[in-house]
Amino acid sequence: MPIYEYQCNQCQRMMSFLILKISEASTLKCKGCGSKDLNRLLSRVTYHRSESDRMAEFNTNKPRGEEFYKDSRNVGLWAKKRAKELGADLGPEFDEVVDRARTGKILEDYDL
Ligand SMILES: [Zn+2]
Repeated sequence: MPIYEYQCNQCQRMMSFLILKISEASTLKCKGCGSKDLNRLLSRVTYHRSESDRMAEFNTNKPRGEEFYKDSRNVGLWAKKRAKELGADLGPEFDEVVDRARTGKILEDYDL
């Protein structure tokens, strides 16, 4: 699926959107400041990669900044990769926990 990269003209933030229909492009808003003044970065069209691709490229030794965690797809990736490196079999239950963490549902399980 095509993912288009945009830069906000107001706050200069860069972000990517999955665009299924071209009509959706006109409704896009900056994820940071909400501005509709976005600039499409034509040269940076990417395609959705599978989790195994992401995991293969992912270096657990590299420091992860704030940006890393803004991408919810990266939540749990580190833990999964570390577990693989350590040879631990976390089983399907762990996948389920990661999925819940990604969708934010895990917070509902705790009475905070
Ligand atoms: Zn912005």
